[in-house]
Amino acid sequence: MTELSRIDPAPARGRCVVCGGSRRHAVFTEFGVDVLECDDCGHVYSSWPGGQDYDGYFGTGPIDAEAAERFWNGQHARMYDDFIRRFLVGRRGRLLDVGCGLGYFVKRAAAVPGWEAFGYEISPQAVAFARERLGLDTVFCGTVETSHFTPGSFDVITMWDVIEHIPDPDPLLAYLRSLLTADGVLCMHTPNAVVQVPKARLTRRLRGMRPDLHYLEARDHINIYKVSTLRRVLQRNGFRRVRFIHLSPIDGMAGYKGRIASLLKRAWFVAAVVLFHASLGRINVDNLFVAANP
Ligand SMILES: [Zn+2]
Repeated sequence: MTELSRIDPAPARGRCVVCGGSRRHAVFTEFGVDVLECDDCGHVYSSWPGGQDYDGYFGTGPIDAEAAERFWNGQHARMYDDFIRRFLVGRRGRLLDVGCGLGYFVKRAAAVPGWEAFGYEISPQAVAFARERLGLDTVFCGTVETSHFTPGSFDVITMWDVIEHIPDPDPLLAYLRSLLTADGVLCMHTPNAVVQVPKARLTRRLRGMRPDLHYLEARDHINIYKVSTLRRVLQRNGFRRVRFIHLSPIDGMAGYKGRIASLLKRAWFVAAVVLFHASLGRINVDNLFVAANP
């Protein structure tokens, strides 16, 4: 028995946050925590209660600057640059990155001619890193809902791998909608349940349940969206035009294993894009990247 599996299971969350339904079944169990699928709308969510102000990502220990640089500036470079080419180059305005972590994306966006870039992040250590190491005085600490930004003052708002951590997405999405200009865009990157659940089951079948492997991160990823469920929560919070696009994936780490991982990811990505277009957008097996306009 592993250490994790001895932790008491969390009290199950009562209702699906997407449709309010209470009928569900477990699709995976991760060290005592059930991951559930709503029988009414298909939303996948963890039975772990989580917290609305998620601050667990950076922990409390010191931040390893070299590792941070490799991961956020190195492995994310292609994805961030792909985004910048599509959404920022040739335009001008103000961008807000919510849950900006160490600030690497804010720094890249701020370097694009014509753009002012701001960040909000709940972890004080991450904010200290962004301000002191990256020299960003436009990164602020706290929950964005308490930011006092002027309504309608941002052209682009980004959330990279944030929304899956938030138990109730509605107050956050409604607030971000209020910060956007009339023709602004909210862009979010988040795992796709359609891929993550089978992948977790495959990992369990091939390698068993091991604390050093990743499955669904059931204590951190409280909501795992699909195209249909993410579209639904965006639309009810005032985003009328919701479209899914594909961004170059995060690269693997250096070394032989990292290169193999990169190749596999890229192959999957190319196949996912082909399948998406061949199915006229009906089948999406990529990570979810959504662009939503008011
Ligand atoms: Zn539901």
